[in-house]
Amino acid sequence: VRERFVARNPESLKQHEAACAVMPGGNTRSVLFYAPFPLVIAEGRGCRVRDADGHDYVDFLGEYTAGLFGHSHPVIRAAIDKALDAGINLAGHNLLEAKLARVVCDRFPSVELVRFTNSGTEANLMAVATAVVATGRSKVLVFKGGYHGGLLSFGGGASPLNAPYDLVIGRYNDVAETERLLAIHGPELAAILVEPMLGSGGCIAGDRSFLGALRAGATRHGALLIFDEVMTSRLSPGGLQQALDILPDLTTLGKYVGGGMSFGAFGGREDLMALYDPRRPNALQHAGTFNNNVLTMAAGHAGMTEIFTPSAVLALNQRGDDLRTQLNRLCRKHGAALEFTGIGSLITAHFSAVPVLTPADAAAGDPRLKELFFFDMLDRGIYLARRAMMALSLEIGDAECTGLTEAVEDFLLSRRPLLA
Ligand code: PMP
Repeated sequence: VRERFVARNPESLKQHEAACAVMPGGNTRSVLFYAPFPLVIAEGRGCRVRDADGHDYVDFLGEYTAGLFGHSHPVIRAAIDKALDAGINLAGHNLLEAKLARVVCDRFPSVELVRFTNSGTEANLMAVATAVVATGRSKVLVFKGGYHGGLLSFGGGASPLNAPYDLVIGRYNDVAETERLLAIHGPELAAILVEPMLGSGGCIAGDRSFLGALRAGATRHGALLIFDEVMTSRLSPGGLQQALDILPDLTTLGKYVGGGMSFGAFGGREDLMALYDPRRPNALQHAGTFNNNVLTMAAGHAGMTEIFTPSAVLALNQRGDDLRTQLNRLCRKHGAALEFTGIGSLITAHFSAVPVLTPADAAAGDPRLKELFFFDMLDRGIYLARRAMMALSLEIGDAECTGLTEAVEDFLLSRRPLLA
């Protein structure tokens, strides 16, 4: 399949080679690289993308959840156009930031006050820094398989680039191990940082008992519970925290909330966020030239109020749940050791003979089958993440979902001997 991919994509290869001359590995965003070279995407429209060689794909990747609105949604576009007309670098508070902040505070139940950043990475760094200052402690409990941005990532073990916190790395969905770690480190913990569903780690939902133990443990030990809802905030109108009815002290957001523009946010309890109130003596500094940039504020506000309304949130997740059910039914029908995990509009394929409930279950799957799946899906006009993750956009409709299930069934039939 790799040879076929190389033969089909000469222009992407050419672009990749030119990029390699000026960027390490031709890359400025690690997640996008895969061997032999990544596709260059030339344009996107609605739920479709076209690569540099002119192949069209249905975009099931949805920019790793940031592309929720599809490509160049007319409402987002109109909001950005309007902002462009009024000048984009105003060096002042603008007419839109408090409006977007109001929407965010109204939507996400634990967010009483919020501040904006330029990325989810920054949002998590700020949230953890807030916890360190607020508690006067330095340890942070995180979980293997968790991804909180380039400087806090625990996929295959701790990255040497992880921010200089005193990290305790726990096991996701393992209550007994968590209680053991809390008993040892609890009094020194500034924060517990967790995704209520692992996103990059394979769309693995957090058990209610696990997340509940984190809530109780944080309270008991005086640490702050931080929910990284950068990906999961789309999974109910008020994020996964609302669906679970477990409220963190701080929440981080990103991705689609900025309407598809560069975005991040951290927010939560009023007493914690008030540390940043510049009217106070010794207020904490949180700076950033582009924190309130008008394009993001405009796109985000239009997206959240005019498009991704609570009823649209529910409808999208229903579509995702139906699609996942359908895909898993096909896997059973064909006796394939393949499972599609996730919640609502977020889905990941795992080639595993056991139900995928933890990152260890996911890691036990065969990576070669995942690679085969990825390239076979590209061949069938389906664009998804190399790690077999999909994030449905609002532009994906019935026809696209049927197309995906047909492509997956075709894959199951043609690769049958490999999948039993
Ligand atoms: N947290 C989670 C859960 C994420 O999935 C991501 C991005 N994939 C981030 C944080 C980092 O966000 P950004 O890429 O905007 O820095």
